[in-house]
Amino acid sequence: MLYSKLFPKTLKQAPADEQSANAKLLHQAGFIRKHMAGVYNFLPLGIRTLNKISQVIREEMDNLGGQEMIMSAFQPRQLWEKTDRWEGLGKEVMYQFKDHSQKDVGLAITHEEVITAIASQMVHSYKDLPLYVYQIQTKFRDEPRPRFGLIRGKEFLMKDLYSFDISNQAHQDFYKQCAQAYLKAFERVGLNVLVVEASGGVFSKDYSHEFQVLIDSGEDKVVHCQKCDFAQNREICHLDNRGQCPRCGSEIVISNAIEVGNIFHLGTRFSDALGLSVTDESGKPVPVTMGSYGWGPSRVMGTIVEVHHDERGIIWPDTVAPYKISLIGLDMELENVRRKAEKVYKLFGVEGIEVLFDDRVGPSAGEKFADADLIGILYRVVISKKTKDKLEVKKRSEKNTHFMTLEQLIDILTRHKFS
Ligand code: ATP
Ligand code: MG
Repeated sequence: MLYSKLFPKTLKQAPADEQSANAKLLHQAGFIRKHMAGVYNFLPLGIRTLNKISQVIREEMDNLGGQEMIMSAFQPRQLWEKTDRWEGLGKEVMYQFKDHSQKDVGLAITHEEVITAIASQMVHSYKDLPLYVYQIQTKFRDEPRPRFGLIRGKEFLMKDLYSFDISNQAHQDFYKQCAQAYLKAFERVGLNVLVVEASGGVFSKDYSHEFQVLIDSGEDKVVHCQKCDFAQNREICHLDNRGQCPRCGSEIVISNAIEVGNIFHLGTRFSDALGLSVTDESGKPVPVTMGSYGWGPSRVMGTIVEVHHDERGIIWPDTVAPYKISLIGLDMELENVRRKAEKVYKLFGVEGIEVLFDDRVGPSAGEKFADADLIGILYRVVISKKTKDKLEVKKRSEKNTHFMTLEQLIDILTRHKFS
């Protein structure tokens, strides 16, 4: 991609109406634009990063045996009445309206009803289980206080997986596997998470589990032990007044955090309500045990920026950067330098390495470096009249520059890919 053609260019200033680091930096660097409170449009750089984040969770869900599908955002009222959620939860956060034929319709806040209704038409025998299906799809929630950029939106992307198992034991096994897959996915996108016990909600007496990123700007509160792995959402945590860990007696701390994923036991709450059961080997009907597993690619994108930035801009983990390399041509008015830079750009293309090439004539070196630092691609590669046969390579997260040949750099990049 040529920076001269990129839509749009970076801005000198962060928008005045945004408070959070993620909203400011993502706007200024040209990844997103606010549409209305809690709603953002994704621009070309933004969709590249969002797609990379989605691809990570897609791969991890596929590894678990998850099958990808996509369900409609429209929710008919009758379906939600079967589970008693049109009033209550629905009235609280769902966009509900009448269409032209006066039918009540809502926009999906989650998809338990839809997927269970679909499964009830097709899943009849123990042989049809287990079933693990997921989607990466837009959710709408009329959040009372949308804020914090991509982190609490009214329209956002969610990966939601639904599990259908023959027994509670089978469900519990899958639940644990999914928790492991989440840990791997968060690690791959550069986030350290804490697994936190939270309310099972109305569905289950078991805890649900949240995946929380500890960070001062977060709006959740997590109570966790300094020594052992005890961690609970403050909403459910009742400590005695000595403030000791109920598991090991060590010191307890309370940290701010952002919830980036959440997994739930649903029991037979939805399968019962929507008439989903299977017959076992002897032909006897058995209820189907379900779980639901949410993971928010757009919130993850905002969280990555909250965690990985400095005063100059974003510092993307390599796995989710919009491009692999930020190639900067200096002295581009000189014919031989320009030709060399264009050749290197083409050779990266041949190797399948994604490059954002700052090919502009005019802006100073300082301006080009500032733009690259703001956008935050991991590898910055400079070609100028001084670099001769070499490339000047610097990582966004490091201070030192290194001179190397194109072959050496390609070797590093392709080796890195498989390490
Ligand atoms: P929260 O407690 O933060 O309101 P939730 O518990 O309602 O979120 P879930 O219904 O479990 O969220 O949604 C699954 C995942 O979807 C969350 O872990 C988060 O990553 C993402 N998500 C939820 N609400 C939002 C939102 N308003 N904006 C962006 N992402 C969201
Ligand atoms: Mg939650």
